[in-house]
Amino acid sequence: MCAKQKIIERHCKQALNFVQTPIVTYTAPNRDWRLIDSYFFFFSLHRLLRDIISAKLQYVVGIGVISIKNQLPTTTCQPNHVLSANNWPNIIQQWLYPPTCLLCENPGYRHYDLCFDCHDALPFNNNACPCCGLSLPPHNTEQLCGQCLAKHPSFDSTLALLSYQEPVRHLVRSLKYKSNYASARLLGSLIADKLSTRTDLPQLIIPVPLHPSRYRERGFNQAIEIARPISKALKIPLGLNQCVRIRKTTAQSELPARQRAKNIKRAFEVRMKIPANHIAILDDVVTTSATVAELAKTIRASGVLKIEVWACARA
Ligand SMILES: [Zn+2]
Ligand SMILES: [Zn+2]
Repeated sequence: MCAKQKIIERHCKQALNFVQTPIVTYTAPNRDWRLIDSYFFFFSLHRLLRDIISAKLQYVVGIGVISIKNQLPTTTCQPNHVLSANNWPNIIQQWLYPPTCLLCENPGYRHYDLCFDCHDALPFNNNACPCCGLSLPPHNTEQLCGQCLAKHPSFDSTLALLSYQEPVRHLVRSLKYKSNYASARLLGSLIADKLSTRTDLPQLIIPVPLHPSRYRERGFNQAIEIARPISKALKIPLGLNQCVRIRKTTAQSELPARQRAKNIKRAFEVRMKIPANHIAILDDVVTTSATVAELAKTIRASGVLKIEVWACARA
């Protein structure tokens, strides 16, 4: 029996005993493959019919336990995505509200509210300055940008996952101006997955605070909403009370680059001791780094040793 058959057989055994045993599930690179637990007891009829029509069903074990032929990636016998079937709230949530692409409404890829094609087309900011996240020309990955070489910013490193262009702009704006929390969940999940293999994670995430009057006006802080799924996935607490914005400033997006640092000066204050030596500041979009640099400066003055910046996008 080949390895692939053994794994499919093991799936079925696990599926029959799933209360005690976690079920290993797969998401193959092709977006058509669905998770096995989507079919387990709570399968969704339209997906089932779709797969029957496309002749992907291999066999049925017991009541409602269905394995799918060719479900495993062809290049490896190892899972590239694993879920536990004992996680009832998530299973029920996925059944009631299956992940759906926020951009084209196709079924979601893995747990993202984004389909495989839209995920594949995202403008990932891979060639970036490790210090400030500025996009660099190809083959220049190890070097700092000119600005960071001339003057090192007040933070140590930046992870700006994407470039601020469409469709990232649409996702960020739909969160900020239309209160679309699904965008925050998606952007946060993308950042969390990028960081999931790191072993030297910070001890606290501090979302960039809004001034209380802006918070009341908007009703939420977009940085906090993006930070929530990251905090949950990486098990890092959120620091929501330590830092406050004490000065109401003109929105940075309304100012030219050279005025932004002056505009944000002395806008933050550390009100409580930060219970960590290594923290991450989280913002939605980093443009000139003026806001995060000012917050990092204030936080560093309070005694924090290592400060990272995490952002969804770099403009
Ligand atoms: Zn899509
Ligand atoms: Zn730089």
